[in-house]
Amino acid sequence: AAACTETDDAAPQDAVLLDRGIIGSAEVAGEIPELSRLSGAREDHVGVALCGIDGEILGAGNGREHAFPVQSISKAFAYGAAIDLHGMEHVDSVVDEEPTGEEFNALSLDPHTKKPKNPLVNIGAIRTHAMLGAEQSERTQRLRAVLDAAAGRPLELHRETFEEELGTADRNLALAYMLRAAGSMEEDAAEVVGGYVEGCAVLTTVTDLAVMAATLASGGTNPLTGERVFSRVAARQVLSVMMTCGMYDNAGDWVSDVGLPAKSGVGGGIIAALPSRFGVASYAPQLDLHGNSVRGTLFFERFSADFALHLLDGV
Ligand code: GLU
Repeated sequence: AAACTETDDAAPQDAVLLDRGIIGSAEVAGEIPELSRLSGAREDHVGVALCGIDGEILGAGNGREHAFPVQSISKAFAYGAAIDLHGMEHVDSVVDEEPTGEEFNALSLDPHTKKPKNPLVNIGAIRTHAMLGAEQSERTQRLRAVLDAAAGRPLELHRETFEEELGTADRNLALAYMLRAAGSMEEDAAEVVGGYVEGCAVLTTVTDLAVMAATLASGGTNPLTGERVFSRVAARQVLSVMMTCGMYDNAGDWVSDVGLPAKSGVGGGIIAALPSRFGVASYAPQLDLHGNSVRGTLFFERFSADFALHLLDGV
């Protein structure tokens, strides 16, 4: 994992971020969560990166080389892997695709169908993770392999984050047991949560995230390695669910203000994709009340507005 870079001498692209208050502003609400502190996050860290579907990469910010836990962003990739393993129809019969408007760790289980509302909140991601193989080792290996393939390099596990989260997983265990109690999951709750938590504790830089987002934007092929990571059907479905459910209980605001499919993680990362063009990612560890990166959201709002990237800007 790359250590954080101390860059007071801003690179040319950083000047734009400085100018717009995305770097350097002290007026940012929210806390760095304890977990991201474990991996060396600093309050002033900020980084952005863009990866075109031709593989060209641009980046800026003092946090662009810092490796931080991917957290919830892994959920989108687990979902894609489940679709390619079982087919859309089966996955759809197990996990729904409805926005919840609730917190990321809410008990979002439909009372009638007993299905988690979507794969991008914890309960849906835990259920999706259970679909990735017959045994814990198979599930975890598959998820790690998909994350590596999407990033185009082997990603390290951050042991401290993994162990800390595993030791405090009561809420996620409760969600897994609720799935079992509802008859919606047969696998062992602790094993599934262990694998899910491992996926969350994988370290990525903002550049890795941009490549992962570009893999989705390109319809499933990693633009750096040329490897097909997802079928086109899976990439399209992952992006569809990111569009409506990727930003926790702020998904509606995000669609209005940014208008791109996106997924955030409590490690401070956000990915977004402009289909057939590029993947883009931000990293800044301070979070708002929804669990989304404050400066990341600010960056995406301005980026989308400045370049008219909202998918409905053509109206
Ligand atoms: N590992 C975190 C959890 O399960 C992920 C939360 C997130 O990034 O939304 O609570």
